[in-house]
Amino acid sequence: MVDVLVSGGGIAGATTAYWLRHHGYTPVVVESAPAPRHGGQAVDVRGPALTVAERMGIADDLRAARTDMRGMSVVDEDGTELMRTTDLTLTGGPVDGPDVEILRDDLVDVLLRATRDVEYLYGDRVVELDDTGARVRVELASGTRRDVDLVVGADGQFSAVRRLVLGPDDDGRLYPLGQHIAVFTLPNTFGLDRWQVFLQRPDAMVGLYTARANTEVRAVMGWSDADLAYDHRDLDHQRRLVHDAFAAGGWRIPEILAGMADADDFYLTP
Ligand SMILES: Cc1cc2nc3c(=O)[nH]c(=O)nc-3n(C[C@H](O)[C@H](O)[C@H](O)COP(=O)(O)OP(=O)(O)OC[C@H]3O[C@@H](n4cnc5c(N)ncnc54)[C@H](O)[C@@H]3O)c2cc1C
Repeated sequence: MVDVLVSGGGIAGATTAYWLRHHGYTPVVVESAPAPRHGGQAVDVRGPALTVAERMGIADDLRAARTDMRGMSVVDEDGTELMRTTDLTLTGGPVDGPDVEILRDDLVDVLLRATRDVEYLYGDRVVELDDTGARVRVELASGTRRDVDLVVGADGQFSAVRRLVLGPDDDGRLYPLGQHIAVFTLPNTFGLDRWQVFLQRPDAMVGLYTARANTEVRAVMGWSDADLAYDHRDLDHQRRLVHDAFAAGGWRIPEILAGMADADDFYLTP
C-alpha cells in the first residue's frame, strides 16, 4: 500500500487523486479552504484534457455543465456595440468547436464527485515536510502528523509545497507580469442571454458573461500595473484596488463595482 498526500483540492489535486485511486494508491487530499474552493473564470477543457476527461468517465458531466455561449459582442465606453459574432467567444474560442468551456467551480465540483471515495481534509494545510528517506513526515497546521510515501503539490499558483521543498518564490520562480484580473459573480441584471460582452479600452479589460443558464454573470476586470503588490489573502484591500483602477467609470463599470461588494467568490489574481 502506497500512501500519498496531495496538497490542494482544486483541478490538479482532485484529478491526481482520481488517478492515484484508480491505480490502487490511497491518496488523502489536504485543502486549505474550509469547503471546496469556488470562484474563477470559465476554463476550456480541450485537446488532451478532453481525452483524460473521457477516460475518467466525466466528459458527459462536463458537457452538461458547459457555459453554452451563443456568441459575443464588444462595446465602447457609452455601451455602443462595435462588433458582434456568433462564431466565437473571447474566452472559449469557436462556438461550435469540440472544446468544453466550463466554469472553474463546476469543473472542480465534477472532479470532486468523481473522487467521492477519496479522503479530503478541508481547512488544513501542510506546514512542514521532512523527507526521512523511506517516507515523508508531513505536519499540518492543525497539528496532525502523517507519514506518507509521496507528497504531491497541487496547491495552485502560490504552492506551499513548492516553497517548502524549493525555497521562497521570490527566488526567481515566479515572474510577475504586472497584469491583474479580478473575477466575481453578479446576478444577471444585464439582460444577457448566453452571451459575452467586453468593453474595448486600451488600458484595461472589462467583460461580462452569463453562466448557469443565464441565472448569473461572471464579471472580469483586468488591468496592468507593474508596481502593484498585495497579500493574496486580504480581500478587502484587493477590492479597494479594483475600485481605484476603475474609478473613472464608463459603460456599466459603476454597476459592476457596486455588485463586487456582495460577491462572495471575489478573486483577484496577479
Ligand atoms: C478561486 C480561484 C480562482 C481562480 N481564478 C482564476 C482565473 O480566473 N484565471 C486564471 O488564470 N487563474 C485563476 N486561478 C488560478 C488557478 O491556479 C488556475 O486557473 C487553475 O485553477 C489551476 O488549477 P490548479 O488545480 O493547479 O490550481 P487551483 O485551482 O488554484 O487549486 C489549488 C487548490 O489548492 C488550495 N490551496 C492553496 N494553498 C494551499 C495550501 N497551502 N494547502 C492546501 N491547499 C491549498 C486552493 O484553495 C485550491 O483549492 C484561480 C484559482 C483559484 C483558487
